[in-house]
Amino acid sequence: MADANNIVFLDGQFMPMSEAKISPMDRGFLFGDGIYEVVPSYQAKLVGFELHIQRMQIGLDAIGIELKMAVNDWRDIAQNLIEKNGRGDLGLYFHVSRGADMKRFHAFPENIQPTVFAYAFSIPAATLADKQKVKQYRVTSTEDLRWKRCQIKSTSLLGNVMHFQQSQEAGVDETILYNQHNELTEASACNVFIVKNEVVVTPPLDNQLLPGITRNMLLDILRKDGTLQVQERVISMAEVHAADELWLTSSSKDIAPVVELDGQPIGTGSVGDIWLLAQTLYCANKHTY
Ligand code: PLP
Repeated sequence: MADANNIVFLDGQFMPMSEAKISPMDRGFLFGDGIYEVVPSYQAKLVGFELHIQRMQIGLDAIGIELKMAVNDWRDIAQNLIEKNGRGDLGLYFHVSRGADMKRFHAFPENIQPTVFAYAFSIPAATLADKQKVKQYRVTSTEDLRWKRCQIKSTSLLGNVMHFQQSQEAGVDETILYNQHNELTEASACNVFIVKNEVVVTPPLDNQLLPGITRNMLLDILRKDGTLQVQERVISMAEVHAADELWLTSSSKDIAPVVELDGQPIGTGSVGDIWLLAQTLYCANKHTY
């Protein structure tokens, strides 16, 4: 479901993807000057919608793009995309760039309209809390060489793209990133959790990682449930390698269990019991956000 007949949204109108055109002078194209979001929708049920729109608004404010759109305007676009594209399991991509100017000049231009684009793409069916059926991830690790404002969900993704490509060239699924102090940050397109002695740990929010909606929902769900101890704290790469379990989280993956890091097994090298408990709780509660 990602072909030229997809119905997409561009600057106020729905149209087939093949008809959606933007100016080459768009600052999203020239500078990666924009903010984006991806919201999952399973069989027409959106997950964490308002949390995603709030994060997008924080990003727009952070880079000074003024856009007069409320949560309900985005909800209308989302619902239209879902209806027009078959109501399946969809990722809804929202993209706001600063807009098109008449010249290429770094300073923010005045009096240009932001470009607003949205489309729907197929995502895998919702992850089941089933050790046998879940995809087992293998990852590599490398120093995080992205910019210092990773909390902004910027469309300037070249750093992430290059880190993700490292995993593809290594024949694995993702690249886990660490800073110059050998502390875990996140992965190229996911947040990262470790489990040690039944304690679930993830790095604290700062400029080194995206405040993932899945991360935040999972922390909230685990804390409300209370069975597992949860910590947000700095994690060394030595701890990552010695973890009992390692997870990736993102909107299209839920909680993805990692069984191998840099060619070495994590824990027993199989999907863990704490993953099963966490994914069970996540499945049961994610539609309440
Ligand atoms: N970190 C990065 C760099 C990402 O690109 C993403 C998702 O695209 C995430 C974390 C996970 O965020 P979310 O759970 O909101 O999808």
